[in-house]
Amino acid sequence: MPPVFPGTVFTPSVDDGFIEDGVQVSLWDDDLPAISRLNPELLAAMRAAEARAADDGIRLGVTSGWRSAAYQQWLLDDRIASVGEETARAYVATPEQSRHVSGDAIDIGPVDAQYWLISYGSEFGICQTYGNEPWHFELATTPGSECPPMRTDANG
Ligand SMILES: [Zn+2]
Repeated sequence: MPPVFPGTVFTPSVDDGFIEDGVQVSLWDDDLPAISRLNPELLAAMRAAEARAADDGIRLGVTSGWRSAAYQQWLLDDRIASVGEETARAYVATPEQSRHVSGDAIDIGPVDAQYWLISYGSEFGICQTYGNEPWHFELATTPGSECPPMRTDANG
């Protein structure tokens, strides 16, 4: 990560894992750090789930994957500026806490893909982990076992 100097305006780039709002990329877009820097076990599980989802006519699109710490901080600062600290922290973790920064979380769309993963993801060890984020998934159980209880939000 390049040094961020005081007064420098940070703008997230593809190298930070940035994916534009409204864009969904493929689990096979290995040239994107958002995909290639994910935990390999999570990526393999997601690709296996995608193959099964395709049998049901569902496409799993990636709206966010790995993020640099600077990008995560930028997301948090941006959200605090628009909705205030309390609401922002319910949805955006700090860089130290974020499972996206460690490569252990992935955000999926569209809605039918989210429903599919919530229903069948546990067969691959994939679980929704925050009650208020139906798009956010992590490896959280042994494949074929139940998912653990969800945390209320990114702050809990
Ligand atoms: Zn997420």
